[in-house]
Amino acid sequence: MGTDHKLVLWDIDHTLIETGGVGSEVFGEAFHEVTGVRMKDMASVAGRTEPVIFRETLDMHHVTSSDGLFERFADAQARGYERRADEMRVRGRVLPGAIAALQTLARQSGITQSVLTGNTRKSAQVKLRAFGLDSFLDLDIGAYGEDDPVRAHLVSIAQQRAHRQRKHTYSADSTVLIGDTPQDVAAAREGGARIIAVASGSSSAAELKDAGADIVFPDLIDSSALIRALAV
Ligand SMILES: [Mg+2]
Repeated sequence: MGTDHKLVLWDIDHTLIETGGVGSEVFGEAFHEVTGVRMKDMASVAGRTEPVIFRETLDMHHVTSSDGLFERFADAQARGYERRADEMRVRGRVLPGAIAALQTLARQSGITQSVLTGNTRKSAQVKLRAFGLDSFLDLDIGAYGEDDPVRAHLVSIAQQRAHRQRKHTYSADSTVLIGDTPQDVAAAREGGARIIAVASGSSSAAELKDAGADIVFPDLIDSSALIRALAV
């Protein structure tokens, strides 16, 4: 094995795609379905994992969690995304440059692409499939919200899965997260990975730099700059 093996772990929301508001509506419907309580407010979502968002939203509505509640919620949420996939394609979008970036990296030998996301695996799969992005990513390698509520812990989970699948050890130098929030930056720094930040979500380039990202792109349009950043 050469030294050019890289594990690229994409964040999903506001890095690759936007759901155009369908995501929070699906969350609210699933919340209502499993708790019987109509959702009035939702915990903040940017860069956070689904179990944390769910638990805080339960607290906001004074609902006590119970065994299996999150799992039932996650199932209902994934079914909601399935049901509303057409609508999500209309209201949402693939972010500029995302498809070309995924294609370009897919053509590089030695690069394995997957996701590191707060989404559950089921919802991640449905969302990526709805926008035609799933074929570029090895979703068996990714790490997801249900794997650990702490985003930084997802890095080693993905590295272990990648090791099992690819028989290659991915270090902090050969693992790269691509994400749009200070939480993605922190996950890389604390979890042991490099970070390429993209200011395509609600955080500005300055905020992402302040959070500790050395490389910040405004969007994913310049695929060759992305390749150069990965080659460092
Ligand atoms: Mg994001």
